[in-house]
Amino acid sequence: MTAAYPIETHDYDVVVVGAGGAGLRATLGMAERGLRTACITKVFPTRSHTVAAQGGIAASLGNMGPDNWQWHMYDTVKGSDWLGDADAMEYLAREAPAAVYELEHYGVPFSRTEDGRIYQRPFGGHTTEFGEGPPVQRTCAAADRTGHAILPTLYGQSLKNSAEFFVEYFAIDLIITDGACTGVVAWKLDDGSLHVFNAKMTVLATGGYGRAYFSATSAHTCTGDGGGMVARAGLPLQDMEFVQFHPTGIYGSGCLITEGARGEGGYLTNSEGERFMERYAPTYKDLASRDVVSRCMTIEIREGRGVGKDRDHIHLNLSHIPPETLHERLPGITESARIFAGVDLTRQPIPVLPTVHYNMGGIPTNYWGEVLDPRPDDPDRVFPGLMAVGEAGCASVHGANRLGSNSLIDLVVFGRAAAIRAREVVDPRAAVPPTNRAAVDAILARFDALRHASGAVPTAALRLEMQKTMQADAAVFRSSRTLAEGVAKMTAVAARLDDLRVTDRSLVWNSDLMETLELTNLMPNALATIVAAEARKESRGAHAHEDYPERDDVNWRVHSLARVEGTRVTLSTRPVHVMPLTPEAEGGISLKRIAPKARVY
Ligand SMILES: Cc1cc2nc3c(=O)[nH]c(=O)nc-3n(C[C@H](O)[C@H](O)[C@H](O)COP(=O)(O)OP(=O)(O)OC[C@H]3O[C@@H](n4cnc5c(N)ncnc54)[C@H](O)[C@@H]3O)c2cc1C
Repeated sequence: MTAAYPIETHDYDVVVVGAGGAGLRATLGMAERGLRTACITKVFPTRSHTVAAQGGIAASLGNMGPDNWQWHMYDTVKGSDWLGDADAMEYLAREAPAAVYELEHYGVPFSRTEDGRIYQRPFGGHTTEFGEGPPVQRTCAAADRTGHAILPTLYGQSLKNSAEFFVEYFAIDLIITDGACTGVVAWKLDDGSLHVFNAKMTVLATGGYGRAYFSATSAHTCTGDGGGMVARAGLPLQDMEFVQFHPTGIYGSGCLITEGARGEGGYLTNSEGERFMERYAPTYKDLASRDVVSRCMTIEIREGRGVGKDRDHIHLNLSHIPPETLHERLPGITESARIFAGVDLTRQPIPVLPTVHYNMGGIPTNYWGEVLDPRPDDPDRVFPGLMAVGEAGCASVHGANRLGSNSLIDLVVFGRAAAIRAREVVDPRAAVPPTNRAAVDAILARFDALRHASGAVPTAALRLEMQKTMQADAAVFRSSRTLAEGVAKMTAVAARLDDLRVTDRSLVWNSDLMETLELTNLMPNALATIVAAEARKESRGAHAHEDYPERDDVNWRVHSLARVEGTRVTLSTRPVHVMPLTPEAEGGISLKRIAPKARVY
């Protein structure tokens, strides 16, 4: 088989797949530590979805008022609806300020306060005094273009540290040798050549799988390729039932209006002009957590108080905010509202709707980014040679619901942690694993079969069916009926992967083949999502089950694991880590403080 596909071989200490915030931060850290590092990316690094991040990055700098990492950790625990791992959440909150200052020193152009410090804005779910005090200004921002400010900086720093980039290379599959990952096979999109990257450590930083849904704020490149590769390697995905709907996607296009808009004083209204969030979340109102706001909006629409001709969306009002503030703090969304909704937000409200935005679930890892292959007797077992960071991974810091601005900080804190750990486990003097011909041949055989797929269903048609099914049946509210229907439909949709038709046989710039590979990655992510959602008989965070409206800590405070093989999903569980890293006596947070309680905002 490989005779038909000549391959070029590359040897590295580390291969990072993905050049978004997580991949670049990991690449930079590895290269800085003297590891020979390659970064493979299917799009130019600065076009990764991280570039679209608007609102900002959370860290308890305390530039605008009192704050500390313990408060940030508490908010993250509560935001996760007590499903996050305490060790990872503590690591995130504790390391966040240093990680942001590091970004500043690398050159990220943050917005500034009058006295020259990094500007911070309020964001949903971020509070003071362990959720008892007023909202805190914790989200560090570069206007409403924070991701756009971070990516070029990290890319430039990585180049400066001699990381090597393979741009517009599509990673097809992991090379697995004797129960360890030894690299990855990639397809170079512009000349059709095939490449084997042998490495002592492979890092998946491939981002989320928002495009499993019909309407998402994520880029078309967010196809869960890392999750697909991991599933094909027989490894599980974790907590996939938790999909975040962002309250304010522009009605119709799904384009995001940052939560920073509400952070700067914007508010939601229904058809009666009522600021309805005051009714549901009397303390934090429009700045309650995302899952909460999305549900309230959905209830308003269901009860007939939606706006517009079909009463099927909600208004976001910003016209009371001074134009200078809009210009300085929210220039990007002023433009988005004009282009995508045709409204002048200094005079008109923006039509918005909860829109798929983020995947809390992903590839299970510890807080060093090492991928887990849990066993009943060893739930934290590490799978050698493989790491996952960023939205592709699940450390798990976001649990059942992520707080706004906690993803960008997750990218840099855990990208950095992965580099620290890799330097400990990778020996630069050791030999790079030799090419595993049998594994490479099997990967190329699958590639070849897809390239020549001559079934009945075009890729775009099957993708649309998957997206519509997920949108209808794994939505903001779920019920036993919609979920059972969803599992049956998605199983049938996934079975039709065997009947795909690819019309373009070329190896050069073949978007038909690339989208087909992406669909084979989206599918296991989507299937795991709906099957795990059907199984979870409670409501927690983003998983709102109408037949089981209460959280059930006795039976369900566990991570779900889904192993996907073809159309079959095998579920199991993994205990949640409840112990923080730092003892209370040393300034840490007490177990009592982070014990589960009712989640009200
Ligand atoms: C519109 C929008 C706004 C957001 N705003 C914020 C915010 O203000 N604050 C916040 O904290 N979070 C925000 N988020 C969430 C956050 O931006 C994302 O979770 C985060 O950027 C994901 O980063 P990542 O590095 O994991 O992946 P991405 O940035 O998605 O990058 C993935 C990388 O993987 C590469 N890749 C994928 N598959 C392959 C393959 N098969 N082969 C080779 N390369 C591959 C891609 O080329 C890309 O470089 C926002 C998200 C969206 C969609």
